Amino acid sequence: MVSDNPYVIVGGGLAGAKAAETLREEGFEGRVVLVGDERDRPYERPPLSKGYLLGDDERSSIFVHEESWYAEKSIDLRTGTRAVRLDRDAHEVELDGGERLGYAKLLLATGASPRRLKIEGNQLDGVNYVRRVGHIDRLRESLAGGGRVVVVGAGWIGLEAAAAARTKYDAEVTVVEPQPTPLHAALGPELGSVFGDLHRKHGVDLRLGTGVTGFTGTDKVTGVTTDDGTELPADVVIVGIGARPNTELAEEAGLGLDGDNGGVIVDSQLRTQDPDVFVAGDAASFPSARYGRRIRVEHWANALNGGPLAARAMLGQDVTYTDLPYFFTDQYDLGMEFTGWFAPGGYDQVVLRGDVDGLAFYSFWVAGDRVVAGMHVNLWDDGVGPIQELIHAEQPVDTARLADASVPLAETLKS
Ligand SMILES: Cc1cc2nc3c(=O)[nH]c(=O)nc-3n(C[C@H](O)[C@H](O)[C@H](O)COP(=O)(O)OP(=O)(O)OC[C@H]3O[C@@H](n4cnc5c(N)ncnc54)[C@H](O)[C@@H]3O)c2cc1C
Repeated sequence: MVSDNPYVIVGGGLAGAKAAETLREEGFEGRVVLVGDERDRPYERPPLSKGYLLGDDERSSIFVHEESWYAEKSIDLRTGTRAVRLDRDAHEVELDGGERLGYAKLLLATGASPRRLKIEGNQLDGVNYVRRVGHIDRLRESLAGGGRVVVVGAGWIGLEAAAAARTKYDAEVTVVEPQPTPLHAALGPELGSVFGDLHRKHGVDLRLGTGVTGFTGTDKVTGVTTDDGTELPADVVIVGIGARPNTELAEEAGLGLDGDNGGVIVDSQLRTQDPDVFVAGDAASFPSARYGRRIRVEHWANALNGGPLAARAMLGQDVTYTDLPYFFTDQYDLGMEFTGWFAPGGYDQVVLRGDVDGLAFYSFWVAGDRVVAGMHVNLWDDGVGPIQELIHAEQPVDTARLADASVPLAETLKS
């Protein structure tokens, strides 16, 4: 009987764990099963390329809940267990051991996996991808001797890894990136250059406008070849070229995928076309009323907030997902928070406010006359709240006042 079945969550990451927590917080007393294919209980990934890679954060600090929490809350946590098939007609999920687990409601919180380079030498020892805590444990061992590190991709993960390799391991670091600046798609060239300068200042050799064509070595990687014919010697390679959403279960079960961003199509309650199946976190393509289109967000806060929202929707509550995307990073002495969204290149101007050279400033991305995204760097007094108010206001902004640090942000909209 469907109604006696548990609420099942597939994916033991942040979205899945927070959804389980919310089901209990909201008073749900039925069975909850949380299925995760990793050996570890749910943990947070942001520290992996920051404090955990640097060795500053203990392993015990990364977990979403204490180990005892799952039993205390009667959450049936199945780690090391993969869901291999979804049968929507039977309301069942098939697990890799063969068990067919019935569900009343199902949340897919399957996250994303690193994009892989399909080039020669990709399987060599010493070529690292970064997603799981075990990847970082291996990487820490490889970096322990310093040496020559080549980072493929100047996105968030590549740059954080580069910063850790310089700061903690005193490695010689080269970053190879086909775009003309780091973070080109995420922030655009203006702010991408700020991050480029930051890394150069810390001794990173940035090779921009250059792609990687292969890895050399017999068993272990010894070099990286680039499309301008250079061979960079390497003891360790770290590949950070983005992630792709884990949507196989949904797709094979006939649930629609978004052709633009690859996520599973859900509504503003994070419900798929099947009323009993929900998706939250990196794998979901949800409608954003603010941006007038579907977006997929690979950020921590989207898992933190989306998991609980999906849980409430599973319980029949009338909820709507309206949170703005939010992201943070720490690299060397730069800490920042970014909020909002734009498609690559989808803005008309960048307005800076404060001391950019001194790395204490705000940046705003303006499309037409509206702020669509903003970030603060090393200015922690107000957080992202005032930036989000500007974005939510959807009002014309006075860019001269926005650039003037003496004008309160709340007084920068045109009246
Ligand atoms: C190294 C790193 C650093 C990051 N730093 C930041 C940061 O600074 N700021 C920020 O905002 N975001 C950051 N992110 C992104 C953020 O961590 C993700 O957006 C977030 O983890 C998404 O959570 P999730 O629960 O949707 O998916 P995930 O964390 O990917 O969890 C999904 C889980 O489901 C499992 N799974 C998948 N398929 C199945 C299946 N069929 N059966 C069972 N289990 C399955 C996966 O193995 C995984 O354990 C970082 C990510 C990484 C990898």
